[in-house]
Amino acid sequence: APHQTVDVHELLDATLVMFNAKLPDGVRVEKHYDRTLPAIPAYAGELNQVWTNLIDNAIGAMRDTGGTLSLRTTRVDEWLCVEIGDTGPGIPADVRPRIFEPFFTTKPVGEGTGLGLDISYRIVVKKHHGDIRVESSPGDTRFQVLLPLAAG
Ligand code: ADP
Ligand code: MG
Repeated sequence: APHQTVDVHELLDATLVMFNAKLPDGVRVEKHYDRTLPAIPAYAGELNQVWTNLIDNAIGAMRDTGGTLSLRTTRVDEWLCVEIGDTGPGIPADVRPRIFEPFFTTKPVGEGTGLGLDISYRIVVKKHHGDIRVESSPGDTRFQVLLPLAAG
């Protein structure tokens, strides 16, 4: 288990800074942080990789249309939930079962490696004993990352 505790809000903000220059016109960012949530035992660098992958997908889904990227933190039972949402077209039902497979991508050759969600799944589920869930309909896609509040 990780020896350090991390403030997920600090990590999310640090990742957002990296995206500042790459944010397409018409994409706005909304933060809804529950600041009463405690720091949690986690690997900071790897969680930053997860936020980077999810935010990159969310922004990519809104590149042509603009929309809202939302970052939300909540407590769900004994979990800290980080929800990364976008108002892009959504994930078609036939694509949905495959998105966590390594090398699965719907992006043109050269634009997507199909590894972002595979890597994120491994970091969250295998290294942090958490979970990733996704809910998606046109205009409303949300990836939820659940992380244990305390070391198990
Ligand atoms: P890549 O981004 O390289 O394609 P990922 O593993 O990050 O690989 O994502 C796999 C696929 O999941 C994407 O190609 C896309 O079809 C789908 N996907 C992921 N996030 C979103 C999103 N926010 N909106 C729509 N589709 C998404
Ligand atoms: Mg990706």
